[in-house]
Parts: sequence; structure tokens; C-alpha cells
Amino acid sequence: MPAQLQFRSYHDLTSPEVTKVFDSNLKTGLTAEEVARRYETYGWNQLPVKPGRPAWLGFLLQFNQPLLYILLIAGGVKAFLGSWTNAAVIWGVTIINAVIGYVQEAKAEGAIASLAKAVTTETTVLREGQTLRIPSQDLVPGDVVLLTSGDKVPADLRLMKTRSLQIDESALTGESVPVDKSIQPLPEDISLAERTNMAYAGSFVTFGQGTGIVVATADTTEVGQISQSMTQRVNLSTPLTRKFAKFSRILLYGILALATLTFVIGLGQGESWIYMFEAAVALAVSAIPEGLPAVVTITLAIGVNRMARRHAIIRKLPAVEALGGATVICSDKTGTLTENQMTVQAIYAGGEHYEVSGSGYSPKGDIRLTRRDSSAEPFEDGLPPILEECLIAGVLCNDSQLKQTDDTWSVVGDPTEGALITAAAKASLNQASLAASRSRLDAIPFESQYQYMATLHDGVVPVIYVKGSVESLTSRCSQMIGHDHQKTVLDPVQLEKAVEQMAEQGLRVLAFAKKEAHAHQHSIDHEDIETDLTFLGLQGMIDPPRPEAIAAVHACQSAGIQVKMITGDHIATARTIAHRMGIQKAEQVVAFEGQQLARMDDRQLAQAVEDGDVFARVAPTQKLRLVEALQSKGEVVAMTGDGVNDAPALKQADIGTAMGKGGTEVAREAADMLLTDDNFASVEAAVEEGRTVYQNLRKAIAFLLPVNGGESMTILISAFLARDLPILSLQILWLNLINSLTMTVPLAFEPKSNGLMQQPPRNPNEPLITGRLLRRILTVSLFNWILIFGIFEWAKSTTGDIAIARTMAIQALVFARIVYLLSISQLGISLLSVIRHRSKITRAPILIVGIVAAVALQFIFSQWSVMNTLFETAPLAPEQWLVCLLPMLPMVPLAIFANFIDPPQGKAVAHPRLNMH
Ligand code: ADP
Ligand code: MG
Repeated sequence: MPAQLQFRSYHDLTSPEVTKVFDSNLKTGLTAEEVARRYETYGWNQLPVKPGRPAWLGFLLQFNQPLLYILLIAGGVKAFLGSWTNAAVIWGVTIINAVIGYVQEAKAEGAIASLAKAVTTETTVLREGQTLRIPSQDLVPGDVVLLTSGDKVPADLRLMKTRSLQIDESALTGESVPVDKSIQPLPEDISLAERTNMAYAGSFVTFGQGTGIVVATADTTEVGQISQSMTQRVNLSTPLTRKFAKFSRILLYGILALATLTFVIGLGQGESWIYMFEAAVALAVSAIPEGLPAVVTITLAIGVNRMARRHAIIRKLPAVEALGGATVICSDKTGTLTENQMTVQAIYAGGEHYEVSGSGYSPKGDIRLTRRDSSAEPFEDGLPPILEECLIAGVLCNDSQLKQTDDTWSVVGDPTEGALITAAAKASLNQASLAASRSRLDAIPFESQYQYMATLHDGVVPVIYVKGSVESLTSRCSQMIGHDHQKTVLDPVQLEKAVEQMAEQGLRVLAFAKKEAHAHQHSIDHEDIETDLTFLGLQGMIDPPRPEAIAAVHACQSAGIQVKMITGDHIATARTIAHRMGIQKAEQVVAFEGQQLARMDDRQLAQAVEDGDVFARVAPTQKLRLVEALQSKGEVVAMTGDGVNDAPALKQADIGTAMGKGGTEVAREAADMLLTDDNFASVEAAVEEGRTVYQNLRKAIAFLLPVNGGESMTILISAFLARDLPILSLQILWLNLINSLTMTVPLAFEPKSNGLMQQPPRNPNEPLITGRLLRRILTVSLFNWILIFGIFEWAKSTTGDIAIARTMAIQALVFARIVYLLSISQLGISLLSVIRHRSKITRAPILIVGIVAAVALQFIFSQWSVMNTLFETAPLAPEQWLVCLLPMLPMVPLAIFANFIDPPQGKAVAHPRLNMH
């Protein structure tokens, strides 16, 4: 055992040599003490995580916004003109803005990164003779690792056993075609890509199985040496933030043009150029919603957190937005819509039907023959041999075990297989003793693509047992065993009837067959079971729908979101389950089979995906076509998946969703979102949160922009009329940044509104600022202009003090703003019900904190002498404060009017899909 891991590949050594170097054992793996000791020497199998970019750079990048350039330049000119306080305040405010932006971004990045970290990668190892699932970081050199399709290779392995093993090494070599793996030693001086007997950390198993010995961990692995550390940069940009960036660029040009125009026209009218410069800067500052980027990031980050609490982990931020606009959810059946709690209820063998009683995986229950008069009776003299053989096939051709803790039985492995062990146990057939008497020589594990599994067992004559879907087996069977245990020809019509009968009850049907192997056969391949199988029987198992998934399906439908079931299971089974869950849009469940879809052209397929509720016997590779077809119809698609071959579809879908518990690593890596409970209800919950995020962003815009609008109108009009500016650039900065942020950030925490899931999805092509939102913004802007201008002119003429007049205009604007804020928030709704029903304030109490803070800051803004110097404000007398409260009154009807033209909770428009129920 090397004391230090050498930077060498072990591809040139033979298997026994490698095993010896690492003092390992292929049969039993390492012992616990040995693992502990190596752990001391070699440490965790984990690359150090490097912080994305240095903090100072992140901070500097905050200034890299066109809108901030204007401010920095404006500050520069002020300084040049000698107004140092002015310049200092402008710069100070931009720095505060950058700090807020930086802190928010860092928090959002941290939240997403830590969520991603919480999902650990697991791997299968052999230790002390037992196969275990452990976190990949617990591996030590010499560990024996078992790979299967869908796994991420956890460390550098020298392969010792392979079965059709293929590995995608594109991350390492750039080669996108998966590599076929082998175990023979290779010449020493060959490149990484040619070392086909190695499996490298970070690559993915796309097919087959393999066993290997860990020869390098952590930073001694090939990837470790390339990168030395894993850079975990979270990308915070989403379509929405990009839209904002574009919007602010356009805004910038507009503002520059307008500001220049104002400046030139004013000069032409003989105004002093200092006055005109102040007007131009004030205009620029007023038109820019400085607080908006921070609010967007906060809102998205809060959405991510809320989703995590509801079992949906976001891996890519754009998914948050897409979730809010999802129009179709394509879900797996088994395990996502259903419990994945399988119990065999019906058996068909030797032409007879049997019933199995009992529930769950407990061996309590019995098997009885079903009579034509539909009574069932127990067996008098032992099990019929063919029934017994069918049950034995289910136990031997099986990779799972049952586990009993106290009184509850559970499955370690595949629930489908667990059910078979339980069924056999009800006939007193014990898994351990069967496995001991018919020891297994080889196996072809189950892959969705083939829909079957086969095992080879030792005996006087070795025998192959096969289990799988009816379709995959019957074409390979030439005969069946009848009731009298004689071989007869297989009657496909009768078999089909038996399958239908089970499937229509919603049972998942597995077929069983066997074949005698050659006398000295030690391994099996797919070719060995292509023909000449003998059909043994069928077992039908129930997998009840998850009750919360049924509720979630219903919730989606009221929200105008279509739910479609995609499954590898039989069409009749899928149809029955879909019917029980209420997935169908019309009277009947519309179902298609994979084979049908394969024959369709793109246009037919697009129609089929719109009409269909259920897609059965779908090969994972067909899912990609389904997603594309839906997207071609303009749908925003969420798609769940867990297998290796689901990855392309998950990447293509707008919200690719992988299973956190049951899924493969390949699927998780491709997904935008992970479900920690593998439950359909969590997809629905995430959609709900996604909608809330979008709604809260809309509210933030509806709240912020009218103030910008009012300010800009004020400056423009006053400048053109050559009157004193009612509000100065510094004061505008205060309003747009300090005041806006304290009042808008709480909006991001708003809970979902009541009718949220009763509305249709938003139109994917809808612009961020819709026509009605624009009308709202303009209406309120106009009001704000009248307010600022009116109060200023009135106060100036009555007091003759321009500083007081400006201060009063600002305070009045803020008070009116509070009323407006309440009108669009959940807090407002809550307050109304407090007044009406004397109930408690339940919604968005954090908004109260925001409002109180804003009022306190305004008080300081005008009453504290330092602020008077910095912002050219003046302390107000009590009666002047009262005057500032007055505009709150007209704001009430105006806000109601605004809510009428643009309902803040969205409009419950009649949607064609909603009327179908
Ligand atoms: P889904 O997960 O959508 O139900 P799968 O691809 O897992 O679909 O299964 C497809 C079919 O393959 C099932 O209907 C069943 O007949 C068969 N099958 C499922 N699991 C196993 C297994 N462990 N061994 C053999 N056959 C299986
Ligand atoms: Mg499955």
C-alpha cells in the first residue's frame, strides 16, 4: 500500500497486481478498521471548494451598471464645480447601493450553493463483504466500488469487472461519445482517453455495470489535478434579470438623450448652466430605478429558499422564473405520482388466476385460487408447481432484499422486486434459502431500455430466469407451462386477456419466464435469452397513488396547468391510475403508446402531446421528442425524470426535475431542480412559489416605477418652465435608494395571494411590463407629479423657504407612497379584514417593519441637522407635517382605481383550459 498516493495511473498493471498494491480484496472489500486507518492517511475524497471570485471583485462589479456610471460622473462634475458635499453624498449613496447589492448577491449565491452542497453524491461500495451505499466523500484508496448506469464515478478506479460498461468522459477528455470499458492491462504510455480499463472521477456511467478498485481520491485524481479545486460559481442571471439589464440600457440612452436635450434647451433659454446641469443630473437620477436590481435578486433568492422548504431544491436560478410560468407538467408515474409501495395482488400461472391477500411488504397474507364464481379458496394439498415456479422466478431473478425493523417491513432496493419477495414469502418460500440452494452465476440487471432482467443459476442443469414487461418477454417465449405442468404452446390471445384483466385494475404487471442453460454456462448475455423461453406466469402488483399527488394534480388543473403522465408501464395500468388521479382533461383518459408516437411525424406528434393525458411504454429517449413537441406548441414544460436516458429531456425542458432520493446522478446533474421527496406534490408547490416570486416582482415594479415617473415629470416640466426644481438630485437619490429599498424589500417576502392558483399561467410571451401595468404606472406617476409639484409650489409661496418646500414635497410623497404600498400588498388586504372582521394581522407583518423604518428615516432626513446639510432639507413644524399627511386621502381612491385597471393579484381571466372540467 503506497504511503502516499502516487500520481500514476494503474492501467498497465493486471488486476491481481493492482489488488495487491492496494492490499484490497475483490470478494469482501476493505474492513472497517482498514478504512478508518486509510482515512487517517489519505483524508476525505473531496476537492477543496474554491470561492468563486474574490470579494473585492464582486464588490467592484456592482458598479458595472450603466445607470451607476451616470451617478459617478455626476458626482465628478459636482466635485469639479466645487460642491464637495454634493459629490460626497452622491458617491456615498452609490457606495451604499453597491454594498447592499453585494451583500444581497453574496447571500443569494451562498443560499443556492449551500442547497446544492446539501445534496450529497452517493456511491455503492463493497466493505466487509457487504454492499453499502455511502457518501462519495467517504471513499478511501483500495475501496471496491460498484458502478451501474446513471452513476457518477466517485474516484479514479482501475476496473476489475465490467458488463457492457460505457462511460461518458466528456468532462475530462472532451470526447462526447461514451467509451466502452474493459479490464485488460494496457501499454504504459497511452493517453488518458485510451485507458479503457480505468474509470475517472467526475465522468458518468451511461450504460452497463462494473466493479473497480479506488486508486486515487480527492486531488490526486485526474480531475483533481486539472482543477485542483472545484469552482462553485452560482450564476445569478436569469431571463428576467437579463430583461432588466436590457431595459436599463435602453433607459440609459433615453435618459442621456433627454438630459442633454433639457440641458441644451435650458441654456438656449438663457438659464445658467449650473442650474441646467443640476436639472439634467436630477432628471437622470430620477428616471433610474436604482433599487430595482437589488429587489430582483432578493425576491429570487427568497423564492429559492421557500421552494427548498417545500422539498424542491433549485439548481439553476432561471428555473424559479420558469416555474412561475409553467403550462405543462410531465410527470413520471411510478414513485412520483404513486407511492412506490408495491404489493402483489394477483398472479396468473398455468392458465389459472390467483389472489394474494395482505398489504405492504409484510409476509402476512395468503394466496388463493380465484374461482369462476369469484370466490377464492385456499389450497388443500400444497401449491400448484407452476405457481411455485413463478414465485421462485420472482425471488431468484431479484436484486433486492426485505428488511424488518420492529413490526414494519421495508425494501432495500427496487420496490417492484420487494413485492415479489413478499408474495413468495406468503407461500412460505424464503429468499435466503432459495438463493443458497440455487446460487447465482451471473445476471443482467434491469434497465428501462430493455424492460427485463435475467439471472443464471447453478444446478444439475443451470437455469436462466427472466422477468420483465409482458411485451418484452412474450415475443421470446415459444411455449408455456400449463396447469398439469406440461409444456404447451403459448396462447397469445388468452395471455393478452389475462394481462388486460390485471392492468385494468391498475396493477403493474410483470411476466416471468425461464430457460435451461448449457451445462457449463457461467455467464449470460442478451443473446442467450432472445428466443426459446418458457413462459411461467404473471404477477400483478398495486402501487397506490399518493393522496397528496392527487390533490396537487387537482390544484394544477385549477391553475390551468396540464398534467401528463409519462411511464414505461403498460398502457392499461397507466390509464387506470391516471383515471384514479383525475389526470384526464375530458371524460376519458387519452393515452398513447411509445410505439405509436415513434411512427408519428412532428405535426402529428405535436397534436398528440396536446391531446394526450398518458404516454405509456415510452422509452426514455422518446421523452426528449415529447418535450420538444410541447415546446413547439408554445408550452413551458416541467419534466420529471430519474434515469440515465432522461438527461437529454431534462436539459431540454424548461424545468428539468430530477429525483433526489431515487434518481441517478446523471439525471440530477442535468436537472434544474431536485425533489428531495420524489413527490409530484412538490412540483406543484414549486410552481406555486414560482408564481409568488413573479407576482412579487411585478408588485415591486408597480411600486417603484411610478415614483421614478413622478420625479422625472416634475424635473422635466419644471426645467422647461424654468421654475425652481421642486426636488434636487441628491434628494431623488435618497428617495430612490434609501426610501425605496426599505419599503420594497419587504414586498419580496409577501406570501402568496389567495387566488394565485386559480389563475391561468401567464402567457410565456407576455412582456415584463404589460399594457395594464404601464397604464397603472403612468396614472400613479401623474398623481405623484401633481403631488410633488403642488405641495412644493404651495409651500414655497406660503413659507417663502425653498428648502422647507422641497422637504414637504418629499415627505408628502412618502406618506402617499405608504397608502399606495398597502393597496398592492397582502398587508393591505389583511388590514381591510382587520377593520371588517376585527381579525389579527396575519399577512406580511415584515412590511410593517419596512413602513415604520421608512417613516423613522424620513423623520431623521428632515429633522436632523446633519441630514439638512447633506441633503439640503429643512426641519418641519408639526403643522407642516400634518399638511404632508393630507395627500394620503386622495391616494386612497387613486389606488383603488389603479387596482381596478391593473389588479395586483392578477386577473382571473376565463381560460379555455379551466372550463374543461
Ligand atoms: P416506470 O418507472 O415508468 O413504471 P419502468 O421503465 O421502470 O417504468 O418499467 C417499465 C416496465 O418494466 C414495467 O412495467 C415492468 O413491466 C418492467 N419492470 C420494472 N421494473 C422491473 C424490474 N426490476 N425487473 C424486471 N422488469 C421490471
Ligand atoms: Mg421505474
